[in-house]
Amino acid sequence: MNWNTNWREQAWQSLDETWDLVIVGGGITGAGLLHEAARLGLRALLVEQRDFAWGTSSRSSKLVHGGLRYLKTGQVGLTRASVQGREQLLAEGPGLVDPLGFLLAQYEGDGAGRLVYGAGLTVYDLMAMQWSHRYYSPADFQMLAPYISPTGLRGGFQYNDAQTDDARLVLRLIREAVAEAQGSWGAGEQGGEGSAPPRPPGEGRGEGSALPRPLGEGRGEGSAPPRPPGEGWGEGSRALALNYARAQELLRDDTGAILGVRLRDMANGADGRTTDVRARAVINATGAWADHLRGQVGAESRIRPLRGSHLIFPAWRFPVAQAVSFMHPLDGRPVFAFPWEGVTLVGTTDVDCPPPLTTDPCITGDEVAYLMAAVTTHFPALSLSLDDVIATFAGIRPVIGSGKADPSDESRDHVVWQESGLLTVTGGKLTTFRQVARQALEEICARLDDDQATGEARLARLHDDAPVLQPVDDALPGGAALPEETRRRLLGRHGREAADLIAAAAPDELTAIPGTPALWAELRWAARSEAVVHLDDLLLRRVRLGLLLPRGGDDLMARIRAIVQPELGWDDARWAAEERDYRALVAAAYALPDRRDIPDWPAQLAAAEATRERAAVARQERARLRQRRGGLGLALVAVVILLLWLIRRHHRGAAPHA
Ligand SMILES: Cc1cc2nc3c(=O)[nH]c(=O)nc-3n(C[C@H](O)[C@H](O)[C@H](O)COP(=O)(O)OP(=O)(O)OC[C@H]3O[C@@H](n4cnc5c(N)ncnc54)[C@H](O)[C@@H]3O)c2cc1C
Repeated sequence: MNWNTNWREQAWQSLDETWDLVIVGGGITGAGLLHEAARLGLRALLVEQRDFAWGTSSRSSKLVHGGLRYLKTGQVGLTRASVQGREQLLAEGPGLVDPLGFLLAQYEGDGAGRLVYGAGLTVYDLMAMQWSHRYYSPADFQMLAPYISPTGLRGGFQYNDAQTDDARLVLRLIREAVAEAQGSWGAGEQGGEGSAPPRPPGEGRGEGSALPRPLGEGRGEGSAPPRPPGEGWGEGSRALALNYARAQELLRDDTGAILGVRLRDMANGADGRTTDVRARAVINATGAWADHLRGQVGAESRIRPLRGSHLIFPAWRFPVAQAVSFMHPLDGRPVFAFPWEGVTLVGTTDVDCPPPLTTDPCITGDEVAYLMAAVTTHFPALSLSLDDVIATFAGIRPVIGSGKADPSDESRDHVVWQESGLLTVTGGKLTTFRQVARQALEEICARLDDDQATGEARLARLHDDAPVLQPVDDALPGGAALPEETRRRLLGRHGREAADLIAAAAPDELTAIPGTPALWAELRWAARSEAVVHLDDLLLRRVRLGLLLPRGGDDLMARIRAIVQPELGWDDARWAAEERDYRALVAAAYALPDRRDIPDWPAQLAAAEATRERAAVARQERARLRQRRGGLGLALVAVVILLLWLIRRHHRGAAPHA
């Protein structure tokens, strides 16, 4: 499937029809909705104001997890849904969703003890029908997390969770939806270079075409086997996904009924062309931005945007073989460090981040100090400093505000709201996208279905046990010489398109980009066919060099350019402008802030320690006072008893004998 600049123009021209559904927002929620809608046979359009996964869904902690900590706050339903989602993704998406061990360190003075965590982990494991957790003594725990501080370590638990590449998960869902929807451009019509009008599905491109052939065009040897009858996606479905298309305004009739959305083309900035798109239903899947469209139907603001930030260290400076979770020394919140794509991520914070949220969110000096305080306290042997940080990133949690003083006390569960005809789906987690999509589509289907039979058939399909990701051909044509790990990675991240990626690679491009597990070929493929509009789309979300390499991968820019500039069709002036913008973005949102804005965290820790010591002394003093008061009280009681006894005795002695 080939999404190049030509495709973009064609896609824009093809918007003029009445869609069953317009999904606003190209994060995991929108992607999950598009995927399920296409499966149901709906004609669905997804629009994203920036790049696919530009919002929170490329800035998460990348954990596909059950959310153990949500058990603590009583969100059992959220934990159960997450565990189920995790197990299904692990089974269907190896190479994209992979197991990750988790170590839970326990120190003296940590709130909950071994019994509480043991009980929580038992419930957690039972939800996944497995028994993965185990308690380790301090000595054994240190073998698993060699650099962790031994001071006060009481031991800890190990259990199993999973992790992913969040932006690639979003893209795989979107591309599968588009490719698989019958009659879609993906079935042979997502035009290649200079390709004229869309071709009917199944009509192959000519022999010897330089461009990779889309799915369904008879790739020949090794291509995914044709699906058996009945396994196909919904009859008549059509799925189209367009990045850099902002839903600026809801279109409504005189009665207020929603007729569609007015889109603005954002590829070249905020003054692009507009077009009106008609739809039978509109879903607002705009995450932290959800209040904008809700405001247009008169709904009051409900989103409390909370920023969560991460620091990224090279693995050689901060080596962890699995995730390690520990309590922050200043406020007792859980913080974790975990391996991802050859680097170590440390996160996260949880602080209010008021709208308008128009630019890429970035870590603040306070957050840097907070995370550094955590890692330097718990991993003192590594002597980590700011010089070791290679990158940072921040994301905005779309949390539903309930006015709690501590942001971390707000629920992380999703919501589905029907407000004056607008369906909003927000909150929730990366992990639960399918459950969320199904719940939202159930509501939409009830509105759309014209007759009972169609409605019942759709509902049955909505809740069937179809795989969440399309099965892939493990043989991976052309990939026989690749290491197993690389084959897994390509199949997981690119699904059925992995073979096309390999076919498109130049001879020396099936090798890893230094310092990363990504291949040079992934850059070529993304530039050629994954709807890259700006350089940051390519280097931050398609292939994640901006997070994995210092200065956003600047040192490799010459080779990157040699591969991708011709694929993107950019002239030198355009390349120079893109490179300049990318560097500015990396400096503003993916690097450390000005060091002068980063508070002195050793001083903060020392002050906190001094406060703790003062509190301990005060506690001891109070205890001594209590003891003294208790002693005095006892002495007083004893004196009173003695006096009473003496008085009694005196009276007895004075009484006349009978
Ligand atoms: C720091 C952090 C760590 C997290 N870690 C995890 C984790 O490890 N595991 C997990 O399961 N979950 C995690 N989460 C939660 C998870 O990432 C989010 O719940 C999820 O990504 C939200 O997806 P979304 O699609 O609803 O929102 P988004 O990904 O933000 O997508 C919404 C999109 O809508 C677009 N948009 C907005 N307005 C318009 C408009 N008018 N027109 C068109 N497009 C528009 C935005 O540009 C955006 O891309 C984390 C969240 C944060 C912040």
